[in-house]
Amino acid sequence: VMKVYSEEVYRNNQKYGFVFVHRDITKEYEVDEMKSEFVSTVSHELRTPLASVLGFTELMINKELKPERQKKYLTTIYQEAKRLTSLINDFLDVQRMEAGKQTYEKKYEDVLPIIKEVIQSHQVHASSHTVDLVTKVDHTVVLGDRDKLIQVFNNLISNAVKYSPDGGRVTILVYKQERNLCIDIKDEGIGIPKDSINQLFTKFYRVDNSDMRKIGGTGLGLAIVKEIVKAHDGDITVQSEVKKGSTFTVTLPLAEQLLKEEIIEVDGD
Ligand code: ADP
Repeated sequence: VMKVYSEEVYRNNQKYGFVFVHRDITKEYEVDEMKSEFVSTVSHELRTPLASVLGFTELMINKELKPERQKKYLTTIYQEAKRLTSLINDFLDVQRMEAGKQTYEKKYEDVLPIIKEVIQSHQVHASSHTVDLVTKVDHTVVLGDRDKLIQVFNNLISNAVKYSPDGGRVTILVYKQERNLCIDIKDEGIGIPKDSINQLFTKFYRVDNSDMRKIGGTGLGLAIVKEIVKAHDGDITVQSEVKKGSTFTVTLPLAEQLLKEEIIEVDGD
């Protein structure tokens, strides 16, 4: 995007000519686009769960309801309120990431129970999908921030469920590769076009697919996931085929190796 300025040039108080300045404002233009995209995403994403909280509470206030109906509505209200919390946390996370103020409290953590916990919480809500866990390794301890690792698997498993049809199968494969622990999150969903793969981890990016526009989201999840994985000296990659499915692979350095390196360093002293 180019912006052209023209200015009159004077010499000895006499009009002498014009100068045209062409300035490339692509960057400013993109930032503006992103800001308005952000505002519309945020308002839309916050409005949807809020509308259901308001709608259901209003119903409960104004109507005599049977206990089972009450429980059903309360469950919806609870889930939508939780969604609001997680949306707001995502916005805050992105802001902290950008300010370089995200903090990590790392301890030796076993990843396997963390993954199991996340799967369990999903099975409660997404009972229409099957989530399988396959483990091909005994030691799954890494040096990491538990809550942040939960966020990583939570986001990836939610996406696998969200972007595949009801009844879809999600497979989580845990294995070792050299000094790393690898976790594949594989779905048989809508897949990702090749030319979108590079932008997936950019904040606010969502694949522009008319089917997909019906699926809510902010485009922040994967940007947050990438940042967290990087902060753990790990990596995330994706392989995907449209209409076949996607596999996201998280790689994290195994703690055994970290421990060994520390011992070697101590020995060398
Ligand atoms: P959100 O899901 O809120 O839009 P994410 O950052 O988690 O944001 O993902 C960015 C985009 O990547 C999504 O909008 C979607 O287009 C695509 N995507 C992510 N995970 C998958 C998946 N498992 N299958 C297909 N597309 C995916």
